[in-house]
Amino acid sequence: MDFASNLKHIKDRITAACRRCGRDPASVELMAVSKNVSPEKISEAAEAGQTLFGENRVQEAKAKIGRCPGHLQWHMIGHLQTNKCRDAIELFDTIQSLDSLKLAREIDKTAAKLSKSVPVLIEVNVAGESSKHGFSPGDLIAELKQLEEFPNIEIHGLMTIAPWTNNPERLRPMFKGLRELKFRCEDIIGAPLPQLSMGMTNDFEIAIEEGSTMIRVGTALFGERPVKDD
Ligand SMILES: *Cc1c(COP(=O)(O)O)cnc(C)c1O
Repeated sequence: MDFASNLKHIKDRITAACRRCGRDPASVELMAVSKNVSPEKISEAAEAGQTLFGENRVQEAKAKIGRCPGHLQWHMIGHLQTNKCRDAIELFDTIQSLDSLKLAREIDKTAAKLSKSVPVLIEVNVAGESSKHGFSPGDLIAELKQLEEFPNIEIHGLMTIAPWTNNPERLRPMFKGLRELKFRCEDIIGAPLPQLSMGMTNDFEIAIEEGSTMIRVGTALFGERPVKDD
């Protein structure tokens, strides 16, 4: 299947999921996750109308973004090492994988030097998996005030990567939990957090039904990745 047909199919499924829960399909953004995908394929996706892309490695993004059409929007969705903050801030419009106070401190410091303000999503480890990065809900509540005080970071919402399962219905409570956590965070900071980035190829319809505002889809758009990633 080519990208354009995959895109149409995913958009139809987004519309159907929105219809089931009374949401406007325009309230769900679709990110194409382009890790391990070539600039040629990304350009084909851009021609089909896709503008938002996600990458999980700074090195790979650095090698690819300059070879892709210039009007695209790029989000960082993988774990970011503090020594790569500068590149990440220069390459990406948003960092969705803010997963520690230490990283926030480094992003803030680097952003200040570059006279930039960096939009971020806070990554939450909803299932407490040791293999995944992200704040536990408890740590997030405890540390949110400190995160909010960094002058060069703009918190736009929360992001999560749900565990893999062959029965995505089992993830529903986790997606619902993330939405409720977002409400608690909004109470703490006294401002709305518009973004809830949750849902991937395997589980995006349930994530939409539970309030996702951005789904991150790789496999269902580009096909199986040849290289296994973390
Ligand atoms: C790879 C990846 C995705 C997309 O996964 P698919 O199952 O291929 O849709 C989404 N989010 C993150 C953070 C990823 O690393």
